[in-house]
Amino acid sequence: VQRLEELATTDGMTGLLNKRAMYDVAAQKLAAAKRFGRQLSVLVTDIDLFKRVNDTFGHDVGDVVIKGLGEILRRAKRSTDAVARFGGEEFVVVCEETDARGAMLLAERVREELAKTTFVAKNDPGEPVDLRVTCSIGIATFPAAGETWESLFKAADTALYASKQGGRDRSTAWSPGCKPPVAA
Ligand code: GH3
Ligand code: MG
Ligand code: MG
Repeated sequence: VQRLEELATTDGMTGLLNKRAMYDVAAQKLAAAKRFGRQLSVLVTDIDLFKRVNDTFGHDVGDVVIKGLGEILRRAKRSTDAVARFGGEEFVVVCEETDARGAMLLAERVREELAKTTFVAKNDPGEPVDLRVTCSIGIATFPAAGETWESLFKAADTALYASKQGGRDRSTAWSPGCKPPVAA
């Protein structure tokens, strides 16, 4: 039963929480933050120009990079934080009792760790080459950036979009001036 539960709540590639499980955990953490009048922060990470990694080195190398960032997030988080793989190369971290400043420290630590991680890939003639990637991060903090999980997640996504627009390889905390992406 425990194994089945694990399968239902974890992401097969990274062993982190899956999206559905994260919704449950985030709802619990947000309810607790409201009850105790505490702040809570959400981080959304997205690897920069990841399509290029897949196109240049293949999907398997892309997978190794995704696992690598998952590992960095797992190491960087505190025991009370929850980390999920949310989709392809996107992760979400929910941090209890964490204000925007604390969340920014975590985000920058994650970016630093990723920046100094070298992945080994093979180029077209089959020679090993060093591969490095960067990521962009968006941060939203309860209650200033939103009071529901949906609004918080949207604010974190808006901040992530600002990081991408600003040139990638950076972290942005949501502020009222953050412009959401124009709906397609
Ligand atoms: P940006 O800097 O704007 O984020 O550029 P990007 O190329 O990373 O763009 P985007 O985030 O939209 O693309 C994500 C790509 O991730 C698209 C898809 O091919 C790839 N991807 C999604 N899931 C997986 C996966 O499980 N494994 C691998 N290798 N690639 C994946
Ligand atoms: Mg993406
Ligand atoms: Mg990306």
